[in-house]
Amino acid sequence: MQTDRLIEIRRDLHRIPEPGFQEVKTQQYIKKTIEEFPQDNIEIKPWRTGLLVRVTGSAPEKTYGYRADIDGLPIPEETGAAYQSSHKGFMHACGHDFHMTIALGVLAHFAANQPKDNLLFIFQPAEEGPGGAQPLLESEEFRAWKPDEMMALHIAPEYPVGTVATKPGLLFANTSELFIDLKGKGGHAALPHLANDMVVACSQLVTQFQTIVARNVAPLDSAVVTVGKISGGTKQNIIAEHARLEGTIRTLSIESMDVVKKRIESLVSGIETGFDCAASINYGANYCQVYNNHASAERFMAFTRNRENSVLVECEKAMTGEDFGYFLEEIPGLMFWLGVNSPSGLHSSTLDAKEEAIPFAVQLLIDYLEDVQKK
Ligand SMILES: [Zn+2]
Ligand SMILES: [Zn+2]
Repeated sequence: MQTDRLIEIRRDLHRIPEPGFQEVKTQQYIKKTIEEFPQDNIEIKPWRTGLLVRVTGSAPEKTYGYRADIDGLPIPEETGAAYQSSHKGFMHACGHDFHMTIALGVLAHFAANQPKDNLLFIFQPAEEGPGGAQPLLESEEFRAWKPDEMMALHIAPEYPVGTVATKPGLLFANTSELFIDLKGKGGHAALPHLANDMVVACSQLVTQFQTIVARNVAPLDSAVVTVGKISGGTKQNIIAEHARLEGTIRTLSIESMDVVKKRIESLVSGIETGFDCAASINYGANYCQVYNNHASAERFMAFTRNRENSVLVECEKAMTGEDFGYFLEEIPGLMFWLGVNSPSGLHSSTLDAKEEAIPFAVQLLIDYLEDVQKK
């Protein structure tokens, strides 16, 4: 596919970011774009607001899967770009517009040049939440076409265009959202003895959480417990009946995620007893770690290292979360970072990923997928 066309697709998709499981226009746009490709070896199956697209190989022995996530974020865009989001309050601030465009570019190539093996392109909804990977994996549609190996990429603002970064083993952490509601008894600000103040209870809880990483996670392991938002009360002179705390948990090991959650639960139940209130915990979206299969990652890294015009970085693991991890729990494969050279980071309202990364990634993936089929 020509670079101009790829950029046009990216900008069209950038204009229409949609939240998880509401990617209706996005799904329609992807479908319409695929219909422009030669259809002889292509089959398309919708799955909820996503799409599965299989390219049948000429003499298939295996199926290689490639996943692109398709949802946007509830962030009002501030890039000032001419192709800025037309969906007020939403933005492709995590580069999923890039991910989709790259997948379409690779798919266009193989639709016109039949591969030997089967290829499965997965346009997955709801990566940012509530999580599309897990239900997709369990779906009949996916099971019928289940790949033998999986790949995906994520844009990386911190690397220049032309750089690819990955590593064997653990790449992304285990993550969980955290929502806690505390309910006590409201009252007059001047009569605290007749009320049960949830601002005080909530503050205690946040302070106690600071001991979890410091005192319950092994020093050579690693974890994060961040409370990003607290809300409670109604007015300055009324004692708050309700308080809510919103946060996230990140851990390098699956075991630490259990340890951290158990500690949170016992501290919350201590607050319930100590402050005579009612508490509830909701973990929201939980993502398991992204663990790159060693053989898959090493093969891809060797290929990229020897390829002209690409730079391979063996990176560190990161505390970011990705629901692609669920695919890798079941199917060997890998994920890698793609340099897009943006001064602002992921989930920022001014993310400015460089479009030159799109043709680079399309060609890299075409070359790699052609290479693995020779083996
Ligand atoms: Zn994201
Ligand atoms: Zn993302």
